[in-house]
Amino acid sequence: MAELLKGKPVADAMKADLVERVSALKAKGITPKLGIIRVGARPDDLYYEGGAKKTCDAIGLAYQVFEYPEDISQEDFERAVTAVGANKEIHGILMFSPLPKSLDEKKIRSLIPVEKDVDGLTLGSAGKVFADDPTGFPPCTPTACMEILKYYNIPLKGKRVTVVGRSLVVGKPVAMLLMREHATITICHSRTENLPAVCREADILVAAIGRAKMLTADYVKQGQIVIDVGINPDPDRPGKYCGDVAFDAVEPIVEKITPVPGGVGSVTTMVLCKQTVMACEMQNE
Ligand code: NAP
Repeated sequence: MAELLKGKPVADAMKADLVERVSALKAKGITPKLGIIRVGARPDDLYYEGGAKKTCDAIGLAYQVFEYPEDISQEDFERAVTAVGANKEIHGILMFSPLPKSLDEKKIRSLIPVEKDVDGLTLGSAGKVFADDPTGFPPCTPTACMEILKYYNIPLKGKRVTVVGRSLVVGKPVAMLLMREHATITICHSRTENLPAVCREADILVAAIGRAKMLTADYVKQGQIVIDVGINPDPDRPGKYCGDVAFDAVEPIVEKITPVPGGVGSVTTMVLCKQTVMACEMQNE
């Protein structure tokens, strides 16, 4: 049986650290604050927003939601995002996407100041992550993977890691963060040949694909550590979620594995809060 790398103890340890850091900032008269920009009221956005607010409350972080109608014009929304970016009371910004098709998301995202981009989705942040500049924030999910690996003392230096997925949100940044820790990385995608064999070569396998239970027993070997980033509707259990890894088939083979749910996903909102606290600290140095 594999050891389960659960997210909750990781988030709890991060919380304890953040409570202290928020208190230290408040003692200096500074209240760290997250600005949440939302257009419309999509259920997925509201669900994530609810989780983020709860986590903010738990560590004493303030937040403000900036909500706009779905028919907002490009010009008005650009003005609004620029104003939130310039607001000195807001230290970190989360902007939900995708935005309605009538809005130029790339242009609007570029209006978020890099130092406040705690969701790590601007090109400026991506550049900093690529350049190993610690003042740039990676997206929350790759950072959550790193927090899990760190919490469970999983060695990375010199280890072979296969990342399946090359998105800007997960695959590419997690590869950069792992390389920062001196792992040797292979990035795979939909055109990779012999994917099962490439996955089996790894000491650590990171699945960020978006295909329910795609990585079966053929893709893993004994002694491996598996980080499953996927969150997919479970085709076998309506109303439930599952990862990109076929957990029931893989768990008996590998050494350690993150469950879904209860793994990477349960650390991401804590990372959002951590990056907001870091942003506030850096803006007040
Ligand atoms: P994405 O943008 O759709 O990227 C998926 C990646 O997987 C692409 O690079 C794609 O390759 C690759 N891929 C697709 N089918 C493949 C196949 N058959 N073989 C090999 N590679 C394949 O997805 P994403 O935003 O990175 O998200 C990935 C997963 O993580 C999703 O399940 C998502 O729900 C989940 N997620 C979880 C969290 C969390 O907090 N845990 C946060 C964000 C996302 P190509 O580039 O060649 O198309």
